[in-house]
Amino acid sequence: VAPLLAVDKLSVRFRLNTGQVLQALSEVSFELQAGETLGIVGESGCGKSTLARAILQLVTPAQGEIRWQGKRLNPHDKVGMKAFRRAVQCIFQDPLDALNPRMTVSDILQEPLLALRPELGKAAIRQRAAEGLQAVGLESAMGNRYPHEFSGGQCQRIGIARALSVEPQLILCDEPVSALDVSIQGQIVKLLADLQRDHHLTLLFISHDLSVVRELSDRVLVLYLGRIMEIADAASLYQNPLHPYTRMLLEAIPLPDPQQERARLAKITVGAGELPSPLNPPSGCVFHTRCPQAQAVCREQVPIWQRLGGRWVACHFPLGSQ
Ligand code: SF4
Ligand code: MG
Repeated sequence: VAPLLAVDKLSVRFRLNTGQVLQALSEVSFELQAGETLGIVGESGCGKSTLARAILQLVTPAQGEIRWQGKRLNPHDKVGMKAFRRAVQCIFQDPLDALNPRMTVSDILQEPLLALRPELGKAAIRQRAAEGLQAVGLESAMGNRYPHEFSGGQCQRIGIARALSVEPQLILCDEPVSALDVSIQGQIVKLLADLQRDHHLTLLFISHDLSVVRELSDRVLVLYLGRIMEIADAASLYQNPLHPYTRMLLEAIPLPDPQQERARLAKITVGAGELPSPLNPPSGCVFHTRCPQAQAVCREQVPIWQRLGGRWVACHFPLGSQ
């Protein structure tokens, strides 16, 4: 069977007003199987949101293609694109921002169904909106209220209910918990995990924080300056990262124990450095300016994408393999 989604050597460039060209993504390839959760992790500015926008056909790639159920997406195919828009829904970082402040929550939940499933009829659509609120842990009576009457976590639940309303196959979650209090983040991640299981959803979960995607992801893809550094099943990636950048991200996760946390902070101040400008990425391995393992060859040669024991990594000197 063809994967649900295939991203094949996707490159995206933006020409800025200054005339400079920003290479937002370089030859990004991965596949997503139905029912799988793929975490996509990297610092801000590494191309995560551009990737989500390219999948949604909101930016035109310079090269490469995106296939849905084995077929190349074609923006001129109106019928195919309508089916795709229904099958792929999004959840965004700022939940309140994503909800129309002048509409009641019930109307917000009915809107996508009225546009994409008008044949259901108004009464059934109103009923579905009420059920949708219950499915995300809210009360159906809350449908009469407006978005500003809800907390950030509740707004994100409403955003999730709206995404679910049209029975999508894939949900793109772009930093869905980053704007929420840490105490709320876990609840939303758990809700997504429960819904994923109950509705056999496929999730693409974007985050700058490896600890957030850990609970949820079957596999994790690590992006740096628009390039994939590593793809691995979640357990291997967390236990035994192959790429020095993945290790750096893991070391950036705060530890609950204060003593361990002090030791962690003391360690990471060494050599981490700043993220280079994506307008002027380093030569060779783009991570070499921050990599504690970098050698001369890293400045000159782009590491090839290699398979190591069922995992993929782009590094001349993968960790734990010397
Ligand atoms: Fe570090 Fe070199 Fe590997 Fe890049 S290729 S991550 S600089 S060791
Ligand atoms: Mg982003």
